[in-house]
Amino acid sequence: MNRRDELAANSAALHARIADACAAAGRDPSEVTVVAVTKTWPASDVALLSEFGVTDVGENRDQEAAQKARACACLDLTWHFVGRLQTNKCRSVASYADVVHSIDRPRLVTALGREARGVRRTIRCLIQVDLDETPGRGGVAPDAVDRLGDEVAAAEGLSLGGVMAMAPRENDPGAAFARLAGVAERLRRAHPDARAISAGMSGDLEPAIAHGATHVRIGTALLGAR
Ligand SMILES: *Cc1c(COP(=O)(O)O)cnc(C)c1O
Repeated sequence: MNRRDELAANSAALHARIADACAAAGRDPSEVTVVAVTKTWPASDVALLSEFGVTDVGENRDQEAAQKARACACLDLTWHFVGRLQTNKCRSVASYADVVHSIDRPRLVTALGREARGVRRTIRCLIQVDLDETPGRGGVAPDAVDRLGDEVAAAEGLSLGGVMAMAPRENDPGAAFARLAGVAERLRRAHPDARAISAGMSGDLEPAIAHGATHVRIGTALLGAR
């Protein structure tokens, strides 16, 4: 199979899964945005995916993301930065990212806000929630989300979009996504526009959708094994 046919087939299978998950949850599939996580795959794959209706692309490393965003500039895509972010990468990320899913500390709010203002852009920010205190994956403890959310909302150049999380590796993802839904609801009480819940990857999009995910971040199921 050529790459175009492979991506078309993966895309159709993914949309069928999402439709089933939404039907089971009593939700409308239009409430769920697919963020195609194209890390390690070439810009030509991004171009093919955009032919199949992908509008949102995610990357987790700045250098790769910057190159791909530049190569795909004519495609009118929304770029999501989903990986751990160092403050010294904020200038670069602010030049192409529309949404950053991995805000997990005040210094990042300060640095990203400054760089966004420098290029006169507003970057939508999601607070990454650490659901299981796994070292190295990033995220802020659930009880610190509201305070960090207030800081994002107050920062010029940034807007507060909602929350993001990865399910703990060994546990029941449904239980983790249910906790995330509670955190999201609390944040939304103070910030009504912060409606995004970025949860669910190739292996666990069904429980994420069952618990209100508005964005699923899909790599393997769309592009194949890395
Ligand atoms: C790679 C990645 C994904 C996609 O994972 P798959 O299991 O390949 O779908 C989602 N979110 C983040 C933060 C990632 O780094």
